[in-house]
Amino acid sequence: MSLYLTSKVKERSKSRKIYLGFCAFMEIIIIMAIVSLLKEGKWESALLGLLFLLGFARPIFREIIMERDFRNAKIIASYLNGISSESIEMQQMNQKIPIGDPVNKIESFIKKGYLTNIHLDWENNLVVLLAENKFVNSGRYIEIDCPNCGAKTMILKGRVKTCEYCGGTLLGKKSELNSKAVDEDGK
Ligand SMILES: [Zn+2]
Repeated sequence: MSLYLTSKVKERSKSRKIYLGFCAFMEIIIIMAIVSLLKEGKWESALLGLLFLLGFARPIFREIIMERDFRNAKIIASYLNGISSESIEMQQMNQKIPIGDPVNKIESFIKKGYLTNIHLDWENNLVVLLAENKFVNSGRYIEIDCPNCGAKTMILKGRVKTCEYCGGTLLGKKSELNSKAVDEDGK
């Protein structure tokens, strides 16, 4: 089980596969139609067919890109699963992960909702791991309320991260108010 992959990557929907199969099937039908229209010299109809061809090609291309992203997200997640410290240097990640520009990919995958529990600390060039299961029992993890939007979120004590909900900056400092909130949740 991965602490860093979201369900978007883990579960592929069946209806999506059926939809893609349908698109691929339509592509074949349209190509056959275009060929016969060209043979008959019906250029305008063939051109119209070409537009349909492109229309059904779009979801297929999107799927190919998504598939590649998912594969990269899995490679990153499995690497991070094997890390026992709470942060890694970005430079080290770039060397150890056998895909192009892993740190920038992590940023884009977090935005796309493929990866989670990861914070990029650009100031210190660190990839900070926030997986709850890993640190929640060590007491290094605290729950705070976002000062911007009020959402509750978990953060490592003393760390900085971006609010998942509003993008505001959060500090892992325990205030009295926040520690109360943790106590209530703990009951
Ligand atoms: Zn917020």
